[in-house]
Amino acid sequence: METKIIDGKAIASKIREELKMRVKQLKIQKDITPGLVVILVGQDPASQIYVSNKEKACQQIGIASRVYRLPENTSQEELLLLISKLNCDKEIHGILVQLPLPKHIDEFYVLHTIDPKKDVDGFHPTNAGKLFSGQKTIIPCTPKGIMKMIYATKYKIQGKHAVVIGRSNIVGKPMALLLLGENATVTICHSKTIHIAEFTHQADILIAAVGKPGFVTGDMIKPGAFVVDVGTTRVDEKLKGDVDFETAKSVAGFLTPVPGGVGPMTITMLLENTIEAGEQYE
Ligand code: NAP
Repeated sequence: METKIIDGKAIASKIREELKMRVKQLKIQKDITPGLVVILVGQDPASQIYVSNKEKACQQIGIASRVYRLPENTSQEELLLLISKLNCDKEIHGILVQLPLPKHIDEFYVLHTIDPKKDVDGFHPTNAGKLFSGQKTIIPCTPKGIMKMIYATKYKIQGKHAVVIGRSNIVGKPMALLLLGENATVTICHSKTIHIAEFTHQADILIAAVGKPGFVTGDMIKPGAFVVDVGTTRVDEKLKGDVDFETAKSVAGFLTPVPGGVGPMTITMLLENTIEAGEQYE
C-alpha cells in the first residue's frame, strides 16, 4: 500500500504566507499590528525552546511579540496582576501563558483570568464551552492544525470512524469535538481503556496523543487509515512520536511524521488565532 506521508512543514509554510498577507491587510484597513504576549514562569528547558520558537515565528510574519520571562518564585497574585494589565492593553490581541506553571500556581484559575477574546490558546472555559456547543470560537492550536492538515489532503471525514487516543483538555477532547463537528463517529480512548487495539483496528482516522513513544504499532492500524501522530517525547536528544513510524508506514494510507508533522501546524495556528483576534478587535 502506498502511504502518503503528510508534510506538515510544507502545509504550515503555505498557510504562513497567507497569514503574512492578512497581517498587511490588517495594517492597511484598521491600522492594527497583531500583538502576542507570551508569559513564561520559571526555567523549564522545553518551555524556553517553545517560547523562542513562537517569538521567531511571530517575527517572520509581522506579528509584534513580547515575552515576559518571570522567575520561578513569581506569586500567583503577581501573575494575575500582569494578566489583568495585558487584558486592557490595546496593543495586545493574544495572551499565552506557557504551561506547565510552577506547582504553587493554580493553572486553571490563571487561564480563566485571561480575556476570552485574547485567549489565543483556546483554553478559557468560555471558549472551551463554545467549542463544546458547536459555536464559532478560538480553537486550541494543536487540534485546529490537525484539522487543517486533514483538509489539505481533501480526505472526506464525514461518516468515518475516528478514534482519538488521549483525553487531555488541550489535545484529545477538543480533537474529538472537532471531528464530531465534521460528522465523524468518534471514539475516545485513554489509559483505562481495555484492549485498545480493538478500537484502533476500527479507526478510519486514528489520532495518537498519548505521550508514549512508539505506542501505536503497525499491527494496531486499519489498512489505509489516516494516522496522525501528535506525540512529542524527547528520547536521546531526538523527538519521538506516539506512532512507530517504521511499522505504521506499510499499513496507513496517510501518516504524519514526527518531527515535521503536527508541530509546525500548532505554531502556525497560534499565529492564525492571534491574527483573528486582531481582526476582531474593536
Ligand atoms: P497528557 O495531558 O499527558 O494526556 C495524555 C493522554 O494519554 C491522557 O488522556 C492519558 O489518559 C492517555 N494515555 C496515557 N497512557 C495511555 C495508555 N497506556 N493507553 C491509552 N491512553 C493513554 O498529554 P497531552 O498534552 O494531550 O499531549 C500528548 C502528547 O502530544 C505529548 O507527547 C505531547 O508532548 C504532545 N503534544 C504535541 C503537540 C505538538 O504541537 N506537536 C502539542 C501538544 C501536545 P488518562 O486521561 O486516562 O490519563
